[in-house]
Amino acid sequence: MFDRDVFKAVMGELGDTREEEKLGCDECFEEVDRFVAAQLAGLSAAQAMPLVWEHLYICGECRDEFGALLDALRAAGGTSVSETLEKLRRDVTPPYER
Ligand SMILES: [Zn+2]
Repeated sequence: MFDRDVFKAVMGELGDTREEEKLGCDECFEEVDRFVAAQLAGLSAAQAMPLVWEHLYICGECRDEFGALLDALRAAGGTSVSETLEKLRRDVTPPYER
């Protein structure tokens, strides 16, 4: 999913010139649920939120978080995204908040 070539292709297609606008982990954490929701809704999350995508590509911690969210939401099936996210956030405290 985070294949380097795919990433480059997506970024290239977008012609994104805002490369200096890097996302931090905190900002990524704020956005990642929307990113996951878009992904699950069948939208192109990578194109809709390239900065989040980019951060997930470069940051292993947030990528783990993203993977966990995605797995949990897929497993949850019919449960609403926000509900599942609430539960996850209670269960899982990110390392930088410990
Ligand atoms: Zn991060």
